[in-house]
Amino acid sequence: MIDAVLYARLSMAEEGECASIARQIADGRDLAEQLGCRIIEVCIDQGVSAYKARRRPGFDRVLELVRGGVVGIVLGWHFDRLCRSMVELEKLIEAAEQKSVMIHTVNAGPLDLSTSAGRMVARILGSVARQESEHHAERRRRANDDRATRGEWVSSRRPFGYLHDGTLNPLEALAIRESTRDVLEGKSVRQVAREWNSRGLITTFAGRQWQPTSVRRVLLNPRNAALRVHRGEIVGIGNWQPIITRGEHEALVALLADPARRPIGPFEKKYQGSGVYQCGICESVVKIHITNRRQSYVCPSYHVRRHQAKLDDYVDSRILHFLSRDADSPKYYLRSIDVSRLEVDQELLRSRLDEAAAMFADGKIDRHQLSHATSKIRSKLVQLNAQVQLAKLTGGAVNGSVSLLHLEEAWRRVPAEARGTIIRQTMKVSIKNAPKGQRGFNPEFVEIAWRDESCKMKEASE
Ligand SMILES: [Zn+2]
Repeated sequence: MIDAVLYARLSMAEEGECASIARQIADGRDLAEQLGCRIIEVCIDQGVSAYKARRRPGFDRVLELVRGGVVGIVLGWHFDRLCRSMVELEKLIEAAEQKSVMIHTVNAGPLDLSTSAGRMVARILGSVARQESEHHAERRRRANDDRATRGEWVSSRRPFGYLHDGTLNPLEALAIRESTRDVLEGKSVRQVAREWNSRGLITTFAGRQWQPTSVRRVLLNPRNAALRVHRGEIVGIGNWQPIITRGEHEALVALLADPARRPIGPFEKKYQGSGVYQCGICESVVKIHITNRRQSYVCPSYHVRRHQAKLDDYVDSRILHFLSRDADSPKYYLRSIDVSRLEVDQELLRSRLDEAAAMFADGKIDRHQLSHATSKIRSKLVQLNAQVQLAKLTGGAVNGSVSLLHLEEAWRRVPAEARGTIIRQTMKVSIKNAPKGQRGFNPEFVEIAWRDESCKMKEASE
């Protein structure tokens, strides 16, 4: 009995258009039975494109078995399954000829490559297969060009935020919309990746976890703004629903392309008190110092030093207590902060981003100017955002809808940078010099002064 190797191949693009791997193998086994040969190995290449220059481990293994004289016959489904290029065909012919190995396919029958007639038929079949495949690729490319010109949805793989047919995936679209605004308002892409992972969102690529790079790629996809990209160029406006505006997209491109933004560290403030709390002696704002996994707030002239987490906890407890009281203090903030006006301001700034983007698109300003304009608008948005957050927190407290516990949760969700802004607007935190020998954190050596006189009085009369 002759030993045979059975080879099957299916590329990703061919799925649904070609006989499945299972079908190819089942037919191959029937063929082996008819011919009375024994299949000693089945070699498969799946998800490998016919003409992209990638390795085909299955085909390489077939060559190895033929060259080593291990098999006397190669079984396949169709000749076009066997060889993807004339180079491969020649390799197979050469190996088969030397070892007098037969090729037998379900669709094209036997080929004796040891005879010149057999080799000629193989070359003809090979070139026909090649031409059909090229024709197919060309047809697909033309169809995509047509669709792109008409602004229709084209996608080989489901993009995050959308379904296969181009309608929105509501949960993912919301994540893109929120995070785009968050990033424009100062949140880091790294932080977004952390949040998406903790919210259980997964990538559309093999269900992998989010990394800053994959989040960045998703957020920067022009498709989110219904911009049609074809062969790497924006070719027009698509007819599907956008998740973000074109202005937001352009601003994000300018922001994330901003080289100053790249090293995430200095721009992502992890500590609310850095640049906010003050030295009790020289009044300079303190900076964070990290040594051996211990973080401290330190005066630039080293007058004072305080444990970061303990000081933050203390400041948080004071401000949360202050905000949660349904007495006059939160009302003071509601009076002084008009949320609806702030939200109008936010919209105004966002439309400025749109304007800047439009000017960039019209060639009236260059990318550098766009980047400059958007970074200015962005820092204003950070400030506004902090105020809105604060107003909403206190507003909820006034209505009695927010318990201290909820307020605490909400407070933790406010980005550290915005928390710092809220703290700066509400109170002055001074770190006083603790006497020598003072061990551990003692709130006695932290002075908190409320920015508003009436609040200070409230505190005093408590
Ligand atoms: Zn100092």
